[in-house]
This record gives sequence, structure tokens and C-alpha cells, in this order.
Amino acid sequence: MSNSLKINEMFETIQGEGSFTGVPAIFIRLQGCPVGCPWCDTKHTWEVDPEREHAAQQVLSKSEPDDSWFSDNAEGLLQLFVSQGYKARHVVITGGEPAMYDLRLLTSVLIDAGYSVQIETSGTFEILVHDKTWVTLSPKVNMQGGYEILDQALARADEIKHPVAMAKHIDELDTLLAREATNPGAQVFLQPISQQKRATDLAVATCIERNWRLSLQTHKYIGIE
Ligand code: SF4
Repeated sequence: MSNSLKINEMFETIQGEGSFTGVPAIFIRLQGCPVGCPWCDTKHTWEVDPEREHAAQQVLSKSEPDDSWFSDNAEGLLQLFVSQGYKARHVVITGGEPAMYDLRLLTSVLIDAGYSVQIETSGTFEILVHDKTWVTLSPKVNMQGGYEILDQALARADEIKHPVAMAKHIDELDTLLAREATNPGAQVFLQPISQQKRATDLAVATCIERNWRLSLQTHKYIGIE
């Protein structure tokens, strides 16, 4: 079980999306993602450039370019929570694509320390986390990297938060929900891509019709990270 993580940023904020919307949270953003979504708003996390490794405090203070990262382990991150003065009791592990990492040790250490833990993943890598971790699957279908959504990810999902801009994205979601592996108890959210009005109108109408939930990127509306 690997304990080495590459962290692009870590900060305390309010979770803006999905079922934990409004909950104070510590975000851990891991470096690296090969999925290739054209509208990705964290493209600086895609590559792991060895020349961009810096000390934790340099990365956390944002004094280096935004594709910089630091290396640490679960215990080190827990100590950083204390030294940074974080008060939140909920941790969101995101990316990049966090499921590229084996997160069993990190999620176990955090849960044992009394945190609730959530991972946000595209569903294209096997999800290795503590059983009590809340899994938010935001499926990225037919992206440039050519990755498939895995059965294991569909089965493990506590919520499926699907990005939508046009009708074909609803069709993609229907296809995923029809797969035998998909957790029938998963909450289903539609999330308009990039706050576009057309996408938002489609998401609202479809949520009402299907009795699904709407997820807005509320942090972007109120101008927080
Ligand atoms: S999976 Fe996430 S981090 Fe990776 S390209 Fe897509 S939106 Fe960006």
C-alpha cells in the first residue's frame, strides 16, 4: 500500500457541489490526471512534472506556478491540518484524478482521526479507499484520454454527479445507470457544465422530470475557491 502522495493544493473552504453542499471542508487536490476533459478547470493538475516539486509551504502559499506540487504522506497531511489551523471536520480528496493513487491509508488515517472523508473521481480508475469514505462519482464519458467508466466505480458510488451541457449527456447517464454494476442506491445529481444558461435550463428541467437532484457549483457563484 503506497503512502506517497503528490499534492497540488490544500485549502479550507465550503464544499460547493453535490450532497455535501454547504459543509466546511478541507480540500486536498492531488496532482495528475490523464482523462482529458476539454472543459476541465484544473488543467494545471494534469501533468506531474518532477521539476515542479517544491516544499509544502511553498505550494500551500501559492508562491510557485499552479502546476507545482509537494510530496507527503497521510500522517504528514494530518500534521499540516494542525499547523494550518484548519477547523473543518470534513475532507474532500479531489484532483486531478485522485483514484490514480491508492488512498486506503490516507482515508483510514483521516477517518480514525475523526474526519468524514469524501473522494471526487471520474470513475476511470479503481477506487481504493476506506469503506466509510463517501464516493462522489462524476463520470467523464468519451474524453480525450480514452478511459472507460469502471464497473467498480459505479458499484462504489454513493452519489453520481453527472456534468451536463446537452441532451446527449443525459443519454450517457442513462446508459451508466442501466449498467448492472451501478449502485441502485446512489444519489443522482445533474451539474451544469461551466454555469452555462443552456446547460442549467436542461439540468433543471431534467431533474424535475426524473426526480434527480440539481448540483450547482455554488462556490463559483459566490466567488470562493
Ligand atoms: S477528470 Fe477531472 S481533473 Fe481530469 S480532466 Fe476531467 S475534469 Fe479535469
